[in-house]
Amino acid sequence: MIIELKNLFNDRDVTLKLDHTVDLTDYELGGTKPFTTPVKLIGCIKNTAGVVELNADMFISFDFDCDRCAEHFVKELIIPMEHTLVNELNNEDNDELLLVEDMTLDIDELALSDILLNLPMKFLCSDSCKGVCAGCGKNLNKENCICKKEIDPRFEALRALLDDSNS
Ligand SMILES: [Zn+2]
Ligand SMILES: [Zn+2]
Repeated sequence: MIIELKNLFNDRDVTLKLDHTVDLTDYELGGTKPFTTPVKLIGCIKNTAGVVELNADMFISFDFDCDRCAEHFVKELIIPMEHTLVNELNNEDNDELLLVEDMTLDIDELALSDILLNLPMKFLCSDSCKGVCAGCGKNLNKENCICKKEIDPRFEALRALLDDSNS
């Protein structure tokens, strides 16, 4: 959706409410389509004493396979969208500023780039995910490893010593 910003730049103390859905269901990321339901974007664009700011939250269902245990999950993420919009740059440090040309903003495009910037590098079902055993292939969150433990003979000797001292 293209948002017309002329009024926002020209009139002070104007607020434009954003209640918008961004359909990214066809967007591919790493060979899958993780945004299975349209992203909800709620917030506003506000001109406060001449400064035009966009503040919104994006509500995302993210469909993924855990990088460690390969289980399939859907996680709800909230990604903030915060930008100061300008229609011209006057040598400012423009990292913070979003230049909108022709007083229009493609909110879908901006939403997608903000989402991609804020997605985690690794997708884990939980930070404490134990993953899959490389030996037996069991999902260690659900099952115990059934690999036969290789016993180091030095530990065997130690255990024998400990057993002796206990008896
Ligand atoms: Zn996992
Ligand atoms: Zn195992």
